[in-house]
Amino acid sequence: MTWKQNGIKHDTKNNRVRLSKGANHKEHPKAWEYILIEYETHPGVTVENLQQVRAVYDKAKERWELHLVCKDEIETPDAPGNETAGIDLGICNFAAVAYSTEQADLYPGNRLMQDGYYFPKEIAKCDDSGGERATRLHKKWSERRTHFFHSLAKHIVERCVEQEVGRINVGKLAGVREDDNGDSKNWGRHGNLDLHGWAFDRFTGILTYKAKVEGIEVVEVSERDTSKTCCVCGRKDDNQRVERGLYVCEEHDDAFNADVNGAENIRLDINNESNSESSASLDEDRSTGWLAQPGVYLYDLSSGFQPQAQVVDCKP
Ligand SMILES: [Zn+2]
Repeated sequence: MTWKQNGIKHDTKNNRVRLSKGANHKEHPKAWEYILIEYETHPGVTVENLQQVRAVYDKAKERWELHLVCKDEIETPDAPGNETAGIDLGICNFAAVAYSTEQADLYPGNRLMQDGYYFPKEIAKCDDSGGERATRLHKKWSERRTHFFHSLAKHIVERCVEQEVGRINVGKLAGVREDDNGDSKNWGRHGNLDLHGWAFDRFTGILTYKAKVEGIEVVEVSERDTSKTCCVCGRKDDNQRVERGLYVCEEHDDAFNADVNGAENIRLDINNESNSESSASLDEDRSTGWLAQPGVYLYDLSSGFQPQAQVVDCKP
């Protein structure tokens, strides 16, 4: 049950909210009947700019709760710097991030994948698909995903602040799904986009919000050819097959982590023509070691993202 602003009267002095009853719940449609609630807040918390009140039943605690939704306007600070980071989203590595300081981070998606196998299996075991146990499993699965997205976005934004990033380029998956140029190769790369497209959209939304709080802009850029192009010499290889997660450039005889190569191409925004002058293709003096040796952060429900010694195999 939700009350919008016209059904809410907020008495900020006395910490009270008056909620109007719907016409069908009153003795008479025009009767003056209200639900009056009084609330207490933690010290230092003020309830203001009340937008919405929601009544939510907490099954575990067996009680109704009222959620007060407030609008909190924050001033966006100056960006931590002028650098650009690039993020490539995928299945095996949910995110690969490339920084201009020749550093890269990988965030394996193994936790998400494990859940993606475990929960549907458990839910299928339930006798009644709409039953209590199935509902509880769906809810738990969704909470775990949401938690993962929030922790990941937080970690990436913290790294971006350290790296003096003012702009994060994210590969634009929506474009892949929407445009009709028949470029189906992109589909194979990300697996089933129907299944994962929404997860990427959801994550990008959370990241955009968390980055904005730090003054960092998130920009979706085209990820066309970002997995086929060598981010060091700019050579495009249509036959590039990613083996053991490696991108191999025969042109200048080197091998990188394939997802980091993609993230670096997204950082460079190789499809943006105004960038072509400054892009990697002219710059073969760059060091390449970092492209093969990203930092790896493994997710743990209790401790968040922890640095890992090496790249994790892509297994559910
Ligand atoms: Zn190359």
